[in-house]
Amino acid sequence: MKLFTTALLFAAAPMALGSAVPQLERKMTYDGYKVFRISTHHNPAAIKSKIAKFAAIPFNLDNNEHLDVAIPPEEVAAFEKLGLETSVMHQDLGKDVAEEGNFATYESTVGTQAVPSLTWFNSYHAYADHRTFFNDLQASFPSNSEIFEIGNSFQGRPIFGIHIWGSGGKGSKPAIYFHGTVHAREWISAKVVEYITYQLLTQYSTDTAIKAIRDKYDFYILPFVNPDGFVYTQTNERLWRKNRQTRSGASCVGTDINRNWPYKWEVTGGASTSPCSETYKGQAAGDTPENKALVAFTQKLKASKGIKLYIDWHSYGQYILLPYGYNCAARASNHATQSSLASGLATRIRQSYGTSFTTGPSCSTLYQTTGSAPDYLTDVGGATFAWTIELRPAGSSGGGFVLPPAQILPSGIEQWEGMKYLLANV
Ligand SMILES: [Zn+2]
Repeated sequence: MKLFTTALLFAAAPMALGSAVPQLERKMTYDGYKVFRISTHHNPAAIKSKIAKFAAIPFNLDNNEHLDVAIPPEEVAAFEKLGLETSVMHQDLGKDVAEEGNFATYESTVGTQAVPSLTWFNSYHAYADHRTFFNDLQASFPSNSEIFEIGNSFQGRPIFGIHIWGSGGKGSKPAIYFHGTVHAREWISAKVVEYITYQLLTQYSTDTAIKAIRDKYDFYILPFVNPDGFVYTQTNERLWRKNRQTRSGASCVGTDINRNWPYKWEVTGGASTSPCSETYKGQAAGDTPENKALVAFTQKLKASKGIKLYIDWHSYGQYILLPYGYNCAARASNHATQSSLASGLATRIRQSYGTSFTTGPSCSTLYQTTGSAPDYLTDVGGATFAWTIELRPAGSSGGGFVLPPAQILPSGIEQWEGMKYLLANV
């Protein structure tokens, strides 16, 4: 399936509330957009003021070392004349998006009694195929797994997951809890979560180490906690990040679900109060439908057998991020253990392809975030470990959110190797 060929440009629908007429949807192709990583020399504000006149699309947020931006074709020459220290992440973003959007078709295996093929990981796929893939995978292991739904997104899509258990029976052990694709454009996160799910299910009967892990924990894996945003990246705007929530009086669409969790939401500096910002926190703590559903489900896991490990899978940058996001001096009570496990995880990941991951508390390692999932999971959800993993690429010359399909499988393999270490040691 080709992206961006069939989507319609919807006219802005009139809103009954407020005078602003929001631009609800637009269609972007990114043809000729060139993506640069700009060295900031620890002064991002200076760079931001130099490039303020350009219609640049920001790829990263408040990074002290470098700013990654997509520059429209008509502005590339003027941008290059600035003489900033840059490297090129995408020569032509539109070309790379088109290549990435060349989805393979997926044939459901239901009725064939076969496990879906690993060729699933050779390309990206349409949202509907992802749901079918999960249904097929579950159907191959009906006595040890089930598909569940925790509620609906703003546009009414069910937020689904797969629950996997071992010999103790359904719901008998502490939770390993994964979220994918909270940021819509981070496509590789769903694929990696799918690869881990696939291995957990298919290796149980043949690998004693996997059997031991499966028998010790219940797994709750939600590959798309922001389905509206993900679908929108496939139909209209590949670089969309937030959910698709409209709000009265606001001229922009979308709230950042990972700035909306009801914990340290009110702290300033780690999110935006502007509805047009990529990190818009919402009008009140936990006021997105997606977050309400996630909070309720998290509380359910806490009240049941508790949460051992939570991972929010993102891209990009190759980081393993520990609590906390809201305060750069705060540390989890078991921080020393967390650090040691994160280092071990990075070492194990590196053994597959030499891919290097940076580890550390998220605020001091990357940037401040408020109302983020790992902080909530740690202090409210009672998770022993609650991390963010930022997947491939590292960034400089390897692209950004648009990761070539050939890197899907290696990304999955190295993370699965890492999880085998982590799950045996938490
Ligand atoms: Zn993200």
